[in-house]
Amino acid sequence: MLEFFEDSFGADVAYEQNGLYIPEVSDCMRCGLCVSHCPTFRINRIDEETPRRRIRTIDKILNQSVMPSKEELEHLDNCLQCRACETVCPSKMAYGQLLDQSRQKLAEMPKPARLAGFMEKLSLALIEHKPRLRFLSRLLGFYQRSGLQNLLRKSGLLSVLKLESYEDLLPPAIDAAPLEPFYLTTADRRGSVALFTGCIAESFDRATATAAIRVLNRIGFDVIIPGQQGCCGAIHQHRGQAETAARLAYRNVGVFNSLDVDAVVYTASACGLMLNEYGQLAIADFDDEELGFFGDRLFDVTHFINLHWPDKMPLQAYPKTIAVHEPCSQRNTLKNQQAVYELLARIPAINLIPLADNAVCCGAGGVHRLTHPHIADPLGAEKIEQLHISGADLLITSNIGCALHLAGGAGKLAPPVTVMHPVGLIARLIQEMG
Ligand code: SF4
Ligand code: SF4
Repeated sequence: MLEFFEDSFGADVAYEQNGLYIPEVSDCMRCGLCVSHCPTFRINRIDEETPRRRIRTIDKILNQSVMPSKEELEHLDNCLQCRACETVCPSKMAYGQLLDQSRQKLAEMPKPARLAGFMEKLSLALIEHKPRLRFLSRLLGFYQRSGLQNLLRKSGLLSVLKLESYEDLLPPAIDAAPLEPFYLTTADRRGSVALFTGCIAESFDRATATAAIRVLNRIGFDVIIPGQQGCCGAIHQHRGQAETAARLAYRNVGVFNSLDVDAVVYTASACGLMLNEYGQLAIADFDDEELGFFGDRLFDVTHFINLHWPDKMPLQAYPKTIAVHEPCSQRNTLKNQQAVYELLARIPAINLIPLADNAVCCGAGGVHRLTHPHIADPLGAEKIEQLHISGADLLITSNIGCALHLAGGAGKLAPPVTVMHPVGLIARLIQEMG
């Protein structure tokens, strides 16, 4: 049975950042409307795994400066930051931001009780530094191409070393070579865009990056890929490393604002959400005008392509069933998932269906698959089951984290189902000019 809390929260604290009002934790009425929407409650069925209970822990940290118990911190840490709770909360709790603030404060407390695990520390350190990440990509690319991967898989050693689930996360072909800085259109030129590739997209999701370049070129846009860009900072921001996140944001705003382009487009919705929320970070040396300039030119790649779709653009027919997975970043916060359906609906003969239970997080949650497999795996398995029931030939998602999380399970279905970004399918079906 669920517990309901009668006690009141601590001292009121108003949070205001760049004019955005964030409700106080004490604004939570404990009405429970968020409970059934929370994926961790869906798995664990206990009140400790609900948003309203976590908000009580957040209140302890932020308002009372009290270190919560180990159990409370574990339940807080299980949160996937999917923000489904925000979409139904009558008090409009800015849960995601309150959680970010509490994690930052925890990190500043003398003896942080939440100890980041090895995999989390390693992941954060790697994605912060592109050269380190590129080095790792080279090693992993060699591991795949040399045949070592197949050998280890067949030997059973991965299972003995409990590395199977990590290995499952690797995309089929890691390419460590950087993309070119310029890709010029050969169609009638309509402008130029800068492509945000962040930390891992170039190596781990090369197919999506090259597909986006191909489609953008085909509709008349030059594509610039600035080599100085870096990770969007989302995972650092959500794991209590606000300073690192602000430093990464500072770099990206400087790099992209210096370019004379019509738009900055991103392919991964989770990165897009972070880029859209740069205005809420305390980024030294940038004023509202500069952050506004950055935000005004920012587009999801599917939205941008839709906006600029040429009148007569031939696409091959694709008479198959395509299931669309809607990432939480896209559905709960950016609320721009419709652009994916609109873009794919341009394909003749396609049968487009939303994946069932799209409102429920797939469990990827940034680095959750690495740090919290007991949460990520059952949620991912539910998605694969829904995919199987749908009978879809292809699974579409706009977020690389979700794609990597779901690809292993989708590939094990009979017949195997490929997971792809929407621009990947458009690029495949685009017909060259005659
Ligand atoms: S829906 Fe909002 S107000 Fe209601 S319990 Fe959840 S967080 Fe609190
Ligand atoms: S962000 Fe998602 S996982 Fe976290 S409390 Fe809200 S609904 Fe639950």
